[in-house]
Amino acid sequence: MEESAVVEVRVRVPAKVNLFLAVRGVRDDGYHELATVLQTVDLHDEVTARLLGTPWAMQHPAARKLMQLSLAHDGGAAVPDDDDNLVLRAAHGLLEELCVPSDATPEELERAPRTELSLAKRIPVAAGMAGGSADAAATLLALDRLWGAGLGPDALRPLAADIGADVPFCLAGGTALATGTGTDTARVLSRGDFHWVVGVSGEGLSTPAVYAAYDDLDLGPSVIEPDIVLQAVRSGDVDLLAGALHNDLETAAIALRPALADRLEDMYEAGALRAIVSGSGPTVVALAPDEHAAREIAERVGDRFAQVCVVRSPAGGPRLAERTLQPA
Ligand code: ATP
Repeated sequence: MEESAVVEVRVRVPAKVNLFLAVRGVRDDGYHELATVLQTVDLHDEVTARLLGTPWAMQHPAARKLMQLSLAHDGGAAVPDDDDNLVLRAAHGLLEELCVPSDATPEELERAPRTELSLAKRIPVAAGMAGGSADAAATLLALDRLWGAGLGPDALRPLAADIGADVPFCLAGGTALATGTGTDTARVLSRGDFHWVVGVSGEGLSTPAVYAAYDDLDLGPSVIEPDIVLQAVRSGDVDLLAGALHNDLETAAIALRPALADRLEDMYEAGALRAIVSGSGPTVVALAPDEHAAREIAERVGDRFAQVCVVRSPAGGPRLAERTLQPA
């Protein structure tokens, strides 16, 4: 019996918060070594990948090398439309991995299969919530399935790490301890849910600029360990977690954007158990005792941020849905 062909894959992928981030030092190549605990939150982007033309063309060995890619998104001007978009970077990376370089003639290209990618952007941009990394991970998973490559999340990891430090984490989601440059991840067991208020600034902060400020301030290397955060996550103890949340990059983010210190104070005044800058910022996340309290805090700080949302963590990992076409 002939197999049905996958024509559309949709991947819903969550954002993350860093519960703990310690900078261990700078390597000779300029990359920073980290120890960080990441957890997904239920704020999602969605990547849809569609194969156009004849899906059966994918069974031809030359098809992949002739693949044409396009991208549409609803993320506004802050999200690139071209090959700088991490969705297209991931797609090109996977194509390169899967096939020989293209020496196709224009006539062949006419008949080549086409993959249309579309991105529904809900994760705030340049907010330290790994939005672009999540999109890259979603794209790798979607195209791995759509193109029938069958690599799976484990085999996609090296490619994910080449695209960005948070991308390997985003392939699996959940809760993880990441070391090295952030690409070596180990799954962490967690119990229960945590409720957060996320305060997004109107203007993003560049991650490299925050690391540069960290180096300029001569703040590292840091020796603090994530043990208590891991214990809090394993036991679902919100008070223990509130006391243990830690981010070495917070001082650097505040040095670049002093108003962030006031935004943290706003969260405390509104009733947060603890408020920290998320990752490289400028997003501020506040841990609330429960969901009801999180909604009240969000209401109180609504006018202090460009966008405020209430989220729950952990939010699992990417979710894949597909549409197939039966052969005629
Ligand atoms: P991280 O938390 O991993 O440091 P971030 O959440 O701070 O990342 P992103 O939202 O990934 O930051 O965006 C950083 C920059 O990447 C943006 O300013 C934008 O120019 C570029 N970019 C490329 N692809 C995307 C994408 N798919 N979504 C958002 N930004 C993208």
